[in-house]
Amino acid sequence: MSTHFDLCVVGGGILGAGIAQAAAINGLSTIIVEKRGWGSGNSSKSGKLIGPGLEYMAPLSLLQARERLVEREILSSIAPDLVDGDWFYVPIYSHSQQKPWRVALQLTLRDCLSAGTNLPWHRRIPEGQWRDLIGLNQHNLRAVFALRDAQSDDAQLTKEVLRSAKQHGAMALCPVSFDGAQPTDDGYRVRVTKGSRSRAFDCRFLVNAGGAWGDQVKQTIGALGQLPRSELIKSTYIEFREPLSDRRFCVDGPDDGPRIAIVPWRGGTLVGGAERAFSGSPDRVETSMADVDYLTNALRYHFPHFRHAPSDAWSGLKTKPLTRSAANAWERRLLILENARYLGVYGAQFGSYRAVAEKAVVAIMRILNSGPEQVSDRSYISSASVSV
Ligand SMILES: Cc1cc2nc3c(=O)[nH]c(=O)nc-3n(C[C@H](O)[C@H](O)[C@H](O)COP(=O)(O)OP(=O)(O)OC[C@H]3O[C@@H](n4cnc5c(N)ncnc54)[C@H](O)[C@@H]3O)c2cc1C
Repeated sequence: MSTHFDLCVVGGGILGAGIAQAAAINGLSTIIVEKRGWGSGNSSKSGKLIGPGLEYMAPLSLLQARERLVEREILSSIAPDLVDGDWFYVPIYSHSQQKPWRVALQLTLRDCLSAGTNLPWHRRIPEGQWRDLIGLNQHNLRAVFALRDAQSDDAQLTKEVLRSAKQHGAMALCPVSFDGAQPTDDGYRVRVTKGSRSRAFDCRFLVNAGGAWGDQVKQTIGALGQLPRSELIKSTYIEFREPLSDRRFCVDGPDDGPRIAIVPWRGGTLVGGAERAFSGSPDRVETSMADVDYLTNALRYHFPHFRHAPSDAWSGLKTKPLTRSAANAWERRLLILENARYLGVYGAQFGSYRAVAEKAVVAIMRILNSGPEQVSDRSYISSASVSV
């Protein structure tokens, strides 16, 4: 094995895989290490949605909403077998927190942000067609909207992106744990362990894509100083063996909580997510009965006939993007320490993995080649042109 790399990526979730892929395509000698299994962290526990939900229509999130709409289009073309586009139905009741006019406005804004893509505009479903949404509670129903989104198997996508990174020359080690790194004159000396065997190698740049474990990873890296901590949100999903509908829904969360997705999944039904702030070890995320009940109640309100019990429930952790002051840059999902040759990823969604990886690798190449003139848009090879 080579003992000197341009780039070492810690964490084999979708962000780590995406960064390793973009780096390898652009000729950086890259190593990626994952301690459990490729995509076994939160990249196998997501809600599988690629496009932006309605929560993204807040003014501050518009750029990210645009990014996700464009990414949805790119992913559909580079991974057509892994991206499944369809209509999502949004029922609005007389007691819903958001009134129909407001939802219509948000969806029109979303349509405008998708300019230049092939995404069809949203539709308002005429009342005469509501009965086609079989099983949906129609009592006090005021409006139903349909928007186009897409689902993907997150774990499978991670594995395919990783496979592409390897094809382009990245070295991928799993199960191998990153144990720490010490600064050298030209980057870092990295220590990793496989079972009881340790080994060391050098890299010129270090990426922390440890997701919810990112704080633990950075504590093992010498000379980074005080960095912002990740804020964690626990999100819970429940699964049913029984199919509810072949349509996808995005319904009100109880108590004005975030919207809940109800989608077909592996022959059954997936419902989520219930969100709460989380503190503690990311290895100890437990699903509470309160969260399962919360989701089951939301499902039963909207589909009263569906009385099955969940067959499975899981919780994962989302990390939040940095605050503006902590990020000291326009991109709040990347913390780049140029002098320390370190980049940390915060709060990037899997639907945006490719765009975030691209930004990370352009920044890394500029730092390693010392000077923005060295990486022109023409010399950078975009992962949007590479099938996964
Ligand atoms: C319940 C839930 C629903 C979500 N729904 C959506 C959605 O619908 N759409 C969407 O776009 N996003 C969604 N997200 C967000 C998305 O899933 C995550 O943001 C994304 O998967 C994070 O990827 P990651 O690569 O940063 O982290 P992870 O996938 O968690 O990867 C981090 C990896 O680092 C590894 N690691 C940690 N420490 C070490 C070490 N010392 N050495 C080696 N490896 C290490 C871990 O084993 C892990 O595999 C959801 C998240 C959750 C939890």
